[in-house]
Amino acid sequence: MTGERRAELAEGIAGVRARISAACAAAGRDDDEITLIAVTKTFPASDVRLLAGLGLTDVGENRDQEARPKAAECADLLLTWHFVGRLQTNKARAVAGYADVVHSVDRPRLASALSEAAVRAGRTLRCLVQVSLDEAAPSEGPGRGGASPADVPALADAIAEAGGLEFGGVMAVAPLGADPVPAFTRLAGIAERVRRNHPGARIVSAGMSGDLEQAIACGATHLRVGTALLGGRRAIVR
Ligand SMILES: *Cc1c(COP(=O)(O)O)cnc(C)c1O
Repeated sequence: MTGERRAELAEGIAGVRARISAACAAAGRDDDEITLIAVTKTFPASDVRLLAGLGLTDVGENRDQEARPKAAECADLLLTWHFVGRLQTNKARAVAGYADVVHSVDRPRLASALSEAAVRAGRTLRCLVQVSLDEAAPSEGPGRGGASPADVPALADAIAEAGGLEFGGVMAVAPLGADPVPAFTRLAGIAERVRRNHPGARIVSAGMSGDLEQAIACGATHLRVGTALLGGRRAIVR
């Protein structure tokens, strides 16, 4: 069983790495510029362990109640944990206990809650500002979120100035059902503007299973890939 799953995951990794290499070659970029984050939501801790054994170093989760026990089960592994989902302020303290990078900071109140929690835990959290790239009505639709582009610079400054936090860059999810290239191009522009004040904030988290090539073409540094690595998600366990 485990051997079979290991082979499946190895195949998933090889397939995604090949796509990354091809996209980097096409864009004139180096594979080393790309960090592959395995989004392991709905998959068990045993898969995280197998992925680590296969050389993956970064994992992502989108719900605290699922991520917290999984991170605890895998505490012996040298992994970087990314929190990529919408985050309620009252979960900030829990997430600050295990996450290394939070991709979904989209409002000042969440930044201050994370700051307080990180200071209390004696940890440093790298935070990205999630940008809404939906043309209309940012942060409407369920489960998306993101700050509107105009609010990004102030939020970046707030994170950079907050204790326990380090401002790492920006993140976005391409709008559903539309060509991702215009959205990723806008994100690249926002990232560039933000770097004028925060030159160290080089992370551009964009690109998932279906659009990682376009994200790489538009300058993404971090890909969040679930399905293409792990297979179809099971029903979400509540
Ligand atoms: C689930 C998820 C992903 C991965 O999506 P796939 O299409 O399975 O690769 C990436 N980013 C976020 C924020 C997610 O919630």
